[in-house]
Amino acid sequence: MSGIYIHIPFCKKACHYCNFHFSTQIHQLDDLVESLLKEITLQKNYLSEPIETIYFGGGTPSLLQPTHFEKILNGLQNNFDLSALKELTIEANPDDINLAQAKMWKSIGINRLSIGIQSFQAEALSWMNRAHDTKQSRLAIEHSKAAGIDNISADLIYGTPHLSDEALLNDIAILNDYEIPHLSCYALTVEEKTALFHLIQENKMENVDTEKQARHFELIVESLSNLGYEHYEISNFAKPGQRSRHNSNYWKGIPYLGLGPSAHSYNNISRQWNIANNALYMKSIKEGIVPYEVEQLDLSAKYNEFMMISLRLLEGVDMQQIETRFGLAYKQHTHSILADYLLNGKIELTEKGFAISKQARFLADGIASDFFIV
Ligand code: SF4
Repeated sequence: MSGIYIHIPFCKKACHYCNFHFSTQIHQLDDLVESLLKEITLQKNYLSEPIETIYFGGGTPSLLQPTHFEKILNGLQNNFDLSALKELTIEANPDDINLAQAKMWKSIGINRLSIGIQSFQAEALSWMNRAHDTKQSRLAIEHSKAAGIDNISADLIYGTPHLSDEALLNDIAILNDYEIPHLSCYALTVEEKTALFHLIQENKMENVDTEKQARHFELIVESLSNLGYEHYEISNFAKPGQRSRHNSNYWKGIPYLGLGPSAHSYNNISRQWNIANNALYMKSIKEGIVPYEVEQLDLSAKYNEFMMISLRLLEGVDMQQIETRFGLAYKQHTHSILADYLLNGKIELTEKGFAISKQARFLADGIASDFFIV
């Protein structure tokens, strides 16, 4: 099995914190779709297995018109084996979702929506410079469900200056009342080169507080666990049977093809990423060349990636897999780093190996990096 990711690099408005590749030049959308169609044909031999999941991410894929979806899905159908397709997701912003739009998505086979709610608090949305308001978020969920799309994931951002503990818990309660089966919760990080970074540097906006973020993370984990959500990956929570197939396949190391500017692809041997520049991407595709850089993955790179991903997952690290995939020397290296973490309680043993303990999950990426071989 394999997956396809399609990057739609346009947004109506720039969120202050955003570090993704996007542009507000929405008038280029038609041209971009034409380039995507050409890239589909250029990359048709990248994957050898049938496609199980397709994911439109961005940017803002909910800006695509019905004809855009029709063209892209036809292009995929004509060039890949979609007979095993199980999950077709689009990321959507609340201000793009109305009943007619949601019905159209349902009619063309979209069976999962990832909605960028981020918060139900007006002040928090304004601080982030989001394009939508809280009323639009509620309507977006109601319209999606009325159109028959119940498989919904909501994004939440926590740890922002105006979000109190009570407000965060209220956001979770609202989503639970709507019976949203999947939540992705992210601590807001201030990345250099973002508008937020400069606004904070110039003292025009308040900075985020890392202690508050750690507290919010604990509140999220506890409250969602009480509500019956599985904490299956550091940032992701799902009701039983409702995990994201697409992302779960990434984490299992299943190959995927990324189409569009800045999209990444992986095929077990190498990782490659398209140029993160819309104009240069479109120009190169027009000339019949996919503009990408590639990194061949040696054994250490594969081990580092395996550790980074496994330590973010509920199931943790499988020691037998380390020995089978990487050999005895890597198993010994793992044991040598593991010892201290078992002593300080940040890692616990599991039936198949080990996993980050509940109280240390907020530190997962830092702990994983201690295992890396460089
Ligand atoms: S909608 Fe998403 S991709 Fe677009 S600017 Fe906001 S955070 Fe970035």
